[in-house]
Amino acid sequence: MGKVHVVGAGPAGSVAAISAIRSGYDVSLYEEHPCAGVPTNCSGLISKEGLESLKGFIDYRKHAIHKMRGAILDFAGFQLKVDSKKDIAYILNRASFDAELAANAEREGAKVIYSKKMEKPFPEGTIIGADGPNSTVASSFLFPRIPRFVGTAQAEVRYDGAMPEFARVFLSNERFPGFFAWLIPKNEEIADMGAGCVLPGNPRRALDSLSKYAGIPIPKEQRHFIIPLMQRPLTAARIRKRNILLAGDAAGQVKSTTGGGVVFGTKCAALAGKYADFPERYEQEWKEKYGPDLDAHYRLHKSLCQLNDDSLRTIGSLASTLQIERFLEEKGNMDRPTSMLCPELLLHPLSLLKNRD
Ligand SMILES: Cc1cc2nc3c(=O)[nH]c(=O)nc-3n(C[C@H](O)[C@H](O)[C@H](O)COP(=O)(O)OP(=O)(O)OC[C@H]3O[C@@H](n4cnc5c(N)ncnc54)[C@H](O)[C@@H]3O)c2cc1C
Repeated sequence: MGKVHVVGAGPAGSVAAISAIRSGYDVSLYEEHPCAGVPTNCSGLISKEGLESLKGFIDYRKHAIHKMRGAILDFAGFQLKVDSKKDIAYILNRASFDAELAANAEREGAKVIYSKKMEKPFPEGTIIGADGPNSTVASSFLFPRIPRFVGTAQAEVRYDGAMPEFARVFLSNERFPGFFAWLIPKNEEIADMGAGCVLPGNPRRALDSLSKYAGIPIPKEQRHFIIPLMQRPLTAARIRKRNILLAGDAAGQVKSTTGGGVVFGTKCAALAGKYADFPERYEQEWKEKYGPDLDAHYRLHKSLCQLNDDSLRTIGSLASTLQIERFLEEKGNMDRPTSMLCPELLLHPLSLLKNRD
């Protein structure tokens, strides 16, 4: 088997590296920073089911700093509480999680090279670009651009301690055009407060608006990042006699509804490592396996971001009347919306009518 160069030691890059080694490739993993996981941009909210699916690569449990059992959804002022009454997600320490994944890649035989920014000319061999939303690999090899991004502004704030196991999600296209804002407790004292809007919108203004709405002052130290909201139209190709594959944020393998990219990005990265010398197979297989759920997230995102705040309130109120939260508590799935397309979805409103009789 040949040489594979994985660019970026985020979760996608480390998983791609481990998977490529297990498939028999000689792997080098490059990270532009002196270590993996820093600086961190992520709130670290990841579904338990998604983390369990990563068990072959990392034991996530020691990086889980807080558990979550539900969410309070604020539809432009109308609130709906979804309480699954069990742990459905964890807040991870992303810095230590990413560092251990990269260490696991090294332990399995990858040559890990830190403080090395990869750019043209790239070394001979297959390249897996797992270098995040601003992928240098993608632009160097002229892959088509990701058409839609969200800009985010985020800060760590003191938390009032109320319902620390619930994420708060604020939907309002007047305040956070095309995305949403969030308050994610990391424990009973600290939370991540953030807001996003589709670019070229102004995420700082969105965060300011959340601060006023939630009555929480913004600390001086803010972090700003971008999140891809659509898949890249092409994620793998044979270019100039070599194989180039993109995985994770570089490929736009992100849930458009939430911006969460760890679960799908790593699942796809595992395929990129496995099929490093078969770009067409990689593209076909990740699209077959994960495309329907990623597309469902995108369709839901597009529908929600077209609604004005009056319509959002109406939807929240309708969802409450139909007790949709009860359906979500039982059948909800943070990652796989297609799994919710079950007969119960149709039977749920009928059961409400029956109970009323
Ligand atoms: C505000 C915010 C909150 C988020 N919250 C969540 C959340 O709660 N849950 C969730 O699942 N996702 C969340 N995400 C998304 C999540 O952080 C990303 O989807 C995930 O980190 C993508 O992993 P990746 O490995 O593809 O890319 P990255 O994590 O971006 O890793 C890419 C790596 O490549 C390195 N690199 C880049 N260019 C080069 C180069 N030329 N040479 C060498 N190295 C390079 C970078 O330094 C970096 O280490 C959030 C994102 C943001 C912005």
